[in-house]
Amino acid sequence: MAGEGGGVTSFRVQSGPGSYRVIVGCGLLRSLGELVKKHAPAHRYAVISDSNVAPLYGDATLRSLSECGLDAELFTFAAGERHKNRATWVELTDRFFAAGIGRDSCVVALGGGVTGDLAGFVAATYMRGIPVVQVPTSLVAMVDASVGGKTGVDVAAGKNLVGAFHPPLLVVADPEAVVTLPRAERAQGLIEAVKHGVIMDSAYFEELDREVPRILDGEATAVERAVLRSMELKSEVVSDDELEAGRREILNFGHTLGHAIEAANSYSVSHGTAVGCGMVLEARIGVELGITVEGTAERIEEVVGNVGLPRGLPGGAAPADIMSYLAMDKKVRDGRTRFVLLSRIGTVYFAHESWSHPVEEQLVLDVVDSFARR
Ligand code: NAD
Repeated sequence: MAGEGGGVTSFRVQSGPGSYRVIVGCGLLRSLGELVKKHAPAHRYAVISDSNVAPLYGDATLRSLSECGLDAELFTFAAGERHKNRATWVELTDRFFAAGIGRDSCVVALGGGVTGDLAGFVAATYMRGIPVVQVPTSLVAMVDASVGGKTGVDVAAGKNLVGAFHPPLLVVADPEAVVTLPRAERAQGLIEAVKHGVIMDSAYFEELDREVPRILDGEATAVERAVLRSMELKSEVVSDDELEAGRREILNFGHTLGHAIEAANSYSVSHGTAVGCGMVLEARIGVELGITVEGTAERIEEVVGNVGLPRGLPGGAAPADIMSYLAMDKKVRDGRTRFVLLSRIGTVYFAHESWSHPVEEQLVLDVVDSFARR
């Protein structure tokens, strides 16, 4: 990771034959114009933002771009996961055509993960693809969604099922933006950061546990440290494996059961809550199999509780319902779901040339069931 001076850190993420730059620093939103001009030159800029973020940061973003002589226009859509869909994609692309956005333009995705995914997908498909600059403003988007190149929208058949890999030209993250983010949303991002510690870096896991109160309070320097470490860990994984053929799979830890919990509860349980529980359950599966060190699940559960997320099985869906959604997961092969398992906190179990392992349905059900009964 290379310093840029003035409290700004910059590094590159390998992406296919090329790479893209990630720049992190407090106050960077104010100098977005300069950074975009230097690292993502284009004829025009289409800034996409949602109806919560646009009133907070839209004007300042346009001003910063125009002060650098850049021609930019703001396109706002209704905030919320339920608007990350094909209808919003149609609306935005039609508005692009009406505004004369051309092939030589660049999208700026200013917002949380919903904006990043949606605007990234608009960029991936508009006129067969124009560049995108990711400017994450939520903690989820900073620690996770803005790096890796995945874009897309939700459809009736499931979340993120229509999309494209479209790596950004540039990522600019300003941890100060987290100040305006609701506290509950900070917890959502923090749980993804905890996952990075769980799968790759036990010291980071412990540091996050110590920093929980400061990160939940939105203290910019604590947020910045977490954003930098999480981005560094995620970019290490995705750099060599952009298309999810190998090691990138470890990022699914906690998400296999997490997604099933979300779906079985009709998405009334937040993603972070479901993933927090999914991590605990998947650690328990590893312990049952004799692969994961005893006590690992309890330690993860403790930190999830410290983040303020509920302990225990959230949402009220029956274990059997959760299992039925597990069966639909794309990680099922030969009737057995594949799980990323831990050796211990900070280390994923790698065996038989694979980062995921088939687990008998009965064992998974027993673990979920006994957890639900506690
Ligand atoms: P989000 O974009 O809906 O943001 C959460 C809420 O915070 C929204 O109401 C948003 O308007 C608001 N918000 C964002 N930044 C703010 C700020 N600075 N101040 C005030 N309010 C702000 O959701 P999210 O939690 O950021 O991201 C979740 C989405 O990201 C999901 O759709 C998920 O599928 C996607 N995701 C994608 C990847 C990927 O690799 N592409 C990874 C993780 C998550």
